[in-house]
Amino acid sequence: MAQQQDRALTAETVDREHGSGLRRLRFSAPVERLFLDEYLRRRARMVPLWALLGTLCYLAAILGDLSMMPDVAPAVVALRLGVFVPYALAVVLVMRRRPSAAAYDGLALGVGILGLSLPMGALVFSESPYLIVYQTGSVATLAFFAIVLRPRFRTALAGLAAMVAIQLAATALNGRFDAVTYAGLVTFYLTIGTFLALSAYFAERMDRLNFLSRLRGEALQAELARLSERDPLTGLGNRHGLDRFRDAMWTALPRTMAAIMIDLDHFKLYNDLHGHIDGDACIGAVARVVAEQAGARGHAFRYGGEEMLVLMPDADPHAAAALGEAIRRAVEALRIPHRGLPGGGLVTASLGVAWGRTDGCDFEALLRAADAALYEAKRGGRNRLHGDGAGFPAVA
Ligand code: GH3
Ligand code: MG
Ligand code: MG
Repeated sequence: MAQQQDRALTAETVDREHGSGLRRLRFSAPVERLFLDEYLRRRARMVPLWALLGTLCYLAAILGDLSMMPDVAPAVVALRLGVFVPYALAVVLVMRRRPSAAAYDGLALGVGILGLSLPMGALVFSESPYLIVYQTGSVATLAFFAIVLRPRFRTALAGLAAMVAIQLAATALNGRFDAVTYAGLVTFYLTIGTFLALSAYFAERMDRLNFLSRLRGEALQAELARLSERDPLTGLGNRHGLDRFRDAMWTALPRTMAAIMIDLDHFKLYNDLHGHIDGDACIGAVARVVAEQAGARGHAFRYGGEEMLVLMPDADPHAAAALGEAIRRAVEALRIPHRGLPGGGLVTASLGVAWGRTDGCDFEALLRAADAALYEAKRGGRNRLHGDGAGFPAVA
């Protein structure tokens, strides 16, 4: 369900929706939007079926019109066929062409009110002795509206109130129900209306609770997937993330790919002299610089201890070399003192760049080439990049 754009929702955000969001049956805007998407999807799917079954039942009730209210039956039959059937068709059409949660609720309200008021309108003018039995048909309409169509609570409440009012008004206007019978009908419909309204409230609340549980599950799953692909010290992608990236890139359409391998210089010595805590902080600072420089152009990973890797899809060799050089300079610009180096030395990095096409080389070959270039950079004196310009090691 829950779709990716708004799926940046975290489990904590979702948890905040409990409480008043559930009690008042309204979440905060982004969550409410997702809830309504799902509400609409589920309801819209059932519209043709309910329209068909509802209409068939409604037409089957013609038998009741003919047997229990024969004096006004022609009028009721005409209303059922001439008003209700076209309305049911219109509901199906509108929900196909312009589906929305509000449209669904509005149309369901129309089904309930029309469905009840057409026969009850005719009942006002009937003198049949069977009206007390006939009018019980309205219970089916109330149940169809509140339980089968199940609009949101506020619509259900408005609909039930209107339908009960119409029901009681019609029986009162008919004038053939004595005071005791009428009082019984009032009690009966108020009770049924109240229970259906309560059930509509709790049903929507349960729907919303289930929705939040699913949303929370998805948010946690996304968070877990994200964490499982991140290195906790640096926040860069880890080896698992790298594998996923490779799988995605090497199975998609062919494209060019540049790899920049970065390794801190004399870092074992740094650890020995400054301690591992400072060593970790240093790796963290360099990782931030790498991620910052890579930005949207590349994907940064922690490849090993103090080795990082930037992969640049669709980059040409010169763009990759330029980014590599920018990273090298940015690491130097951190001006992290390295006591092991003579003359106020600073922490620096060496970089190896390689380039290839995903349909021309395998991932490991590309990394091996970047690693070989890195080795050359170390051999050449460190704090440098190997693999730029003509000497660029493109992998065939
Ligand atoms: P070179 O210039 O040739 O790269 O020398 P180097 O000493 O950096 O050699 P190498 O890259 O092989 O050494 C990696 C060192 O990085 C070894 C280890 O002490 C340190 N290291 C690796 N992972 C971590 C880490 O997570 N935290 C800290 N503090 N140090 C690490
Ligand atoms: Mg090193
Ligand atoms: Mg290393």
